[in-house]
Amino acid sequence: MTLLSFKQKLYTHLKSHYPNTELDSFFKIILEDVLHLSKIDFALDPNKFISDDKSILIDDIIIGLEQQKPIQHLIGFTEFMDLKFIVNEHVLIPRPETEELIYWMLNDFSNIQNIDILDIGTGSGCIPITLAKNLNNANVNTIDISTKAIQTAKENAKENKVSINFIHQDILQATQLPQQYDVIVSNPPYVRNLEKQEMQKNVLDFEPHLALFVADDAPLIFYKKIAELAKVSLKPNGALYYEINQYLGQETVELLKNIGFKNIELKKDMFGNDRMIKASF
Ligand code: GLN
Repeated sequence: MTLLSFKQKLYTHLKSHYPNTELDSFFKIILEDVLHLSKIDFALDPNKFISDDKSILIDDIIIGLEQQKPIQHLIGFTEFMDLKFIVNEHVLIPRPETEELIYWMLNDFSNIQNIDILDIGTGSGCIPITLAKNLNNANVNTIDISTKAIQTAKENAKENKVSINFIHQDILQATQLPQQYDVIVSNPPYVRNLEKQEMQKNVLDFEPHLALFVADDAPLIFYKKIAELAKVSLKPNGALYYEINQYLGQETVELLKNIGFKNIELKKDMFGNDRMIKASF
């Protein structure tokens, strides 16, 4: 197969499943991440031959995309905050909204050394790993209920050359946290069943429901539990950061007020949705 025939195959097989903008981005991702070529390379030599191994791999990716599998699963990784993260069915694919939460935290802490951080519900490890990578000598700890997620996060920590402490625990069963922290952060499950119809098939069918969904009648269960634990385990000037359900911004603020947090900031994401909260005493 040549580069040009790969491009034609991708567009003809998938044009009934995806808009053109998405096909363009699949083409670019496969070109860069599977073939290690740029669009300029393609333009200069569209008749360049792709090796048999890579051709087989690309055919499999196109079949996977036809079944609406996430491109990140088919390639095996994604990029988040300029770092590479291995992703699979056991972890949520890191989202751009979560990058915005990281920007906020990095702005608050970029000049501070040696802070103690805890990330609850770590998944791929995208939050703790980018914090460890970008902060000076931070002591970074994580908790997750899934051993398979922890295994993936450990691989990601190794690939990105950061040292992180992993704890396997169901946070809803915890009665206390292991130490005092400057920062506690979490992007817990927050999608209600009633929001399922807004979700795309590639998310619903291929991403872990354990990381996504909460019961409709207790959508803030993780926020409540973590805030209660944080109340006794945040250092005096410490702060709690949450990614939140866009429809539950005010409810989450109220919950934190009721638990005793005094300074509560609610921020929107780039789409204009309530998406993150910072709270301290
Ligand atoms: N933002 C994610 C989504 O809508 C959900 C993340 C989460 O539940 N923590 O797919």
